[in-house]
Parts: sequence; C-alpha cells; structure tokens
Amino acid sequence: MEKHHPGIDSLHLPCDVAQAWKKRMGHDNPDRPYEGYSVLFAVRAFYLDISQWALHDAYWAQWAAPCPVSLQDTKGVAKHRKHVTARMHQKVRQLAPLLPQLMASVEERLRFQQEFIDRARAAAPGGEFVHGGRTYQRRRYPAVRDHDPAGLRRLHATDPDTGTHIDLLRAEERGFWTWAVVNTFFYTGVRVEELLEITQTALTTLRLPDSGETVPLLQIVPKADAERVLLVPPELAHVLAKVKQRIRDGHETVPALQRWDPHDRVLSPRLPFLFQRRHGLERRVLTDKYVQRLVNDALTALGHGELKLTPHDFRRLFASEAVSSGLPPHIVAKILGHEHLSTTEHYMAVYPEDVLRHYRAFLARRRQLRPSEEYRDPTTEEWEEFHQHFVKRKVELGTCGRGYGTPCAHEHACLRCPLLQPDPAQKRRLDEIIVNLRERLAEAHERGWLGEVEGLEITIAAAERKLAGMTRQINLGMPAIPPVRPPGSS
Ligand code: SF4
Repeated sequence: MEKHHPGIDSLHLPCDVAQAWKKRMGHDNPDRPYEGYSVLFAVRAFYLDISQWALHDAYWAQWAAPCPVSLQDTKGVAKHRKHVTARMHQKVRQLAPLLPQLMASVEERLRFQQEFIDRARAAAPGGEFVHGGRTYQRRRYPAVRDHDPAGLRRLHATDPDTGTHIDLLRAEERGFWTWAVVNTFFYTGVRVEELLEITQTALTTLRLPDSGETVPLLQIVPKADAERVLLVPPELAHVLAKVKQRIRDGHETVPALQRWDPHDRVLSPRLPFLFQRRHGLERRVLTDKYVQRLVNDALTALGHGELKLTPHDFRRLFASEAVSSGLPPHIVAKILGHEHLSTTEHYMAVYPEDVLRHYRAFLARRRQLRPSEEYRDPTTEEWEEFHQHFVKRKVELGTCGRGYGTPCAHEHACLRCPLLQPDPAQKRRLDEIIVNLRERLAEAHERGWLGEVEGLEITIAAAERKLAGMTRQINLGMPAIPPVRPPGSS
C-alpha cells in the first residue's frame, strides 16, 4: 500500500485506494478468481478485531476504521475452499503412485552415501577408489592441519572428471535425515512441528493386558489440543532407533537442547529432541525449512523436480492411504489429531474405484448380516404370492400403493388414505360417492349428529382432493406383469 500510495499513514483507506489494492490482489481477476483470498480474510479479520477491541477499550478507538474488505468481497469462500480441496486431492492422486518409489529412493541414496564413505576411508589420503562405477580420489589435507587421518570428522572425495570436491560426511548426513524424515512422515502422518518436537521420552511401551505382548508407542505433542499416542510399526521403530543411535554418538544419553519455535517465537525448555544434528561446533534441532528442503530434494532425486512435495502432503497421503485401506475415517481423525471429522475429510482424496470397492464391501457385509435364507431362489408359491400382492392391490377407486408384504394400516378407509392412487376411469363412481356423502352430511346437520358432521367433512375434503388429482392425472397405463414362471426356468 505504501509503495503504491506514498505517504499513506492511516488505516482509514479512501474508497479508490481500497479498490485499487483489491484489484492488485487479483480479486476481480476472472482468470484467477481465488487468488488473494487468504490476504483478504486476514485484512478483514484485522479491521474487525480492532473494532471489536475498541468497544471494550477506548485505546483501540484511534485505530478503528471502516473495513476495506466487505462481506460481499468474501463471498465465494465455500467455492474457494472446494477449489483448494480439489487441488489438494488432485495433488495427492499425483503423488500417491510415487510414494513407494520415493521410499525406496531415499533408502537407496542413504546406502549409496554410506558405502561412499566406507570406500573413501578404506583408501589412503590422496589415493583413488571406485564407487558407483566411477573413480574418485580421496582428498589429502595438509599434514600440519590433519589431525583426523581416519576421516571421522572430515572426508572429501574429488571427482576427477569435474574436479569438484564432494563433502562425503555432509552428503551422508543429508541422506540420513532425508531417510529419517520421509519415513517418519510416511508411517505417522504427523505435522512438521510435531515431528521436530519428538523427544527421546516420547517413545514408550505398553504391555497389552490380554496377550502380555509389549508394543512400542510414540507420544505426539500437538500444536494446540490434547496429546495423542501412536502405535509404532517395526519399520518406524527401526528408523527411530537409528536416529537415537546417531545423535547419541557413542554417549549414554541423547543431548538435551532448546528448540526455537518460529511461530510462537519462544525457546523451549532443554529436552532430548530426536531430530537434532551437529551444526558447526554446536547441536541444533532441525528447522522446518531444512525439513522442507530434504523432502523436496528427495522428490527431485527421484526425477520429479517439477512436482512440489511438502511435509503436509505426507499427512494427506497418510489419510487417503489409511482410508482406502479400510481404516474408518473417525480412527484416522484420531491418529491425525483432528478434532472434527470434517477436517479429516478434506485430507482424504477419494478415488472412484475406492467408492466402488467400499460399496461392494458394504453390500457383502450387509449380506452377511441378513439371514442366509433370504439369499436363495424363491419357491413357486412365494413367486405366486408376490404377483398376487399386486393383483390384490386393486381397490374400488384405483390402486393401493402400500409396499409389498405390508398390511393395510388404515382399516381400508381408502377414500381418506394418502396411499390410494385413484384411477381416472373411476371418476363417475367418485362423483356419486361425493354426492352421497353430501346428502349424509346434510342429514347429519339436520339431526344434530355433530360428531358425524366432522368425520363426513374430512371424508368429503379427501374425496374432493382425490377427484382433483384424477382430473389432473394422465393415464400412462400400467406395465404388464409377466406371466408367472417357476424360478430357475429361462
Ligand atoms: S386404506 Fe390405504 S393402505 Fe389400506 S387398502 Fe386402502 S389405499 Fe391401501
């Protein structure tokens, strides 16, 4: 705003300034109708908050001003949300087939880097070694500064073709954390900040009362609501054990560190965080930006650099995968730490084949619950009875519309029954009935049978409605009932 309107110093924006700003936000752009919505909402919330505070505390009144984002401007948010959800689901469908390859790729890269280090260490400083079909030269450091001949603290290889020095320890470290982060996201579906806050004490065990079996659990401390506990599959237990082994680095305990929370802008107490690494001379907990880079690198290494993978995508992939594997959505919501099921629904990309599969599974389950005798061929008598039901539905003024196997619930008072489908051919008969009813009504009035009067008036009103329905009706005829054939005959 200051860039476009130099000197502007008030929240009270002139109408043309506000309009110009909204236009710049792409609000009126028909090609990108949903761009800038989040900014519009943030600005509207900001203005309305100030106005609200000003009602309680006069200090805020100096800042209160008309909101440049009207309610009308925020119309279409539901459409916007649907658009975002559809885009996310499309992304999940794009990424899901790549996931097995991604998991294999990070594992392979880590193994490659670790073998690279082993071979470089086996070679003498300055000597050559072969790895991955290429010949490298282990870098020699000046003797006066080389206090690490085993290559434990620094180890470089020179690519003879390009002459570049490869920092093998750093490459291996990056490969290791990529592997650890991708696997943890894959098996837990946790948020990035939840991953970074996993500590050594978050790993617990539970002895099952029935079998006496001990199962590992992972305690997740979420951003706002109640903490949750996840079952740790063996693959994840292996990853976390490797992480622990690495950060202990031969020591008894995991180093306790403080973590800087960039959102709340506070330092945590000293805790044995698992996702920490050496940074120069000190240790630091991984940052969410570093994790984002690792995840993106993994996808780029797979040859899909055109796609963007975020830690939150793993959450969506986890939810979609869990639901399509048959886990009920309310359990998935618990695992993901969602308070409302609707939040989880946004995460689940449903595939058309899933709908079909679930519907078939539902039919199979329902079939199992129904008595098995309902799933045999009907006998000739049953088939005959079924047809007779339709024959017996013929009543004086038309057809009875009650369902098969159900008795008449209205004591055959068809004239007042909503289930009667009047037959236009019986209009004369109905006219006669109405004339007759009116005569009975007049007599009831004459003789003072007031109880009868009320009933007759209701019947006449129902009969007149049926008559009106008959005159509106177009007779399409009834489909012919096929001749009765014994079941199984063709
Ligand atoms: S009263 Fe209703 S349900 Fe009963 S036979 Fe007549 S139309 Fe059918």
